[in-house]
Amino acid sequence: MLKIVCKQKYLFLTLCITVMSIELLHAQQGDPKLTEVYTPVPPIVTPGKTNSDAPSDAIILFDGKNLDQWESVNDSTKPANWTVADGIITVNKTGGNIRTKQSFLDYQLHIEWRIPENITGTGQARGNSGVFLASTGAGDGGYELQVLDCYNNTTYTNGQTASIYKQSVPLANACKKPGEWQSYDVIWTAPRFNGDGSLKTPAYVTVLHNGVLVQNHYELTGQTLYIGKPFYKAHGASPIKLQAHGDKSEPISYKNIWIRPL
Ligand code: MG
Repeated sequence: MLKIVCKQKYLFLTLCITVMSIELLHAQQGDPKLTEVYTPVPPIVTPGKTNSDAPSDAIILFDGKNLDQWESVNDSTKPANWTVADGIITVNKTGGNIRTKQSFLDYQLHIEWRIPENITGTGQARGNSGVFLASTGAGDGGYELQVLDCYNNTTYTNGQTASIYKQSVPLANACKKPGEWQSYDVIWTAPRFNGDGSLKTPAYVTVLHNGVLVQNHYELTGQTLYIGKPFYKAHGASPIKLQAHGDKSEPISYKNIWIRPL
């Protein structure tokens, strides 16, 4: 009896190995061309000298010379009135927020910023500014990627550097010392809305702060609000806005800003 059972097991194993071998043989004999794709052909984009430099297809939003690509949020008939000197923009705290003249939907954005070496203040009152990934109105309307000095400075974590303000805590604190240039590289997917104004698809954001992943395809729940829970209001392509925050600390600076609409 035992002999018969063993013989059946042996036969079953042999059968399994034979079937697997035949399948493997068929897979190897298939045509690899059946799974090759030749179109569409990706466009050629010449990278910058370093990964911080604009690639060939980028729109330059600030090249160190002027604010021609920007306007005042308070009065769009007036040029942006922040200070440009020595190749950098410095926030004019009394001048109000500035925004790009062009509007964007989905994009890749590179922007560099520097907290002054002599920065003072604590919490949210220490080098506060912000990059609104889509500006949806006057003042601070939109979706704010926080800019702040959090090098040895603590605050609520969903309001610290690289947070989506009051909404998403960054995955890491990658702040450099005040006085050093820092970078944000952002992949933004704009929200889409139905004809009746209801949300069709939410906004998503991925952010690298100084090369460190801090927001990973985060799904936003709405626009930034200082008080209360975020919610969506329908909008289309929007400018990018930089924040003139009213805190008393020394103004911060920006440089090397470029964007690739996607
Ligand atoms: Mg801010």
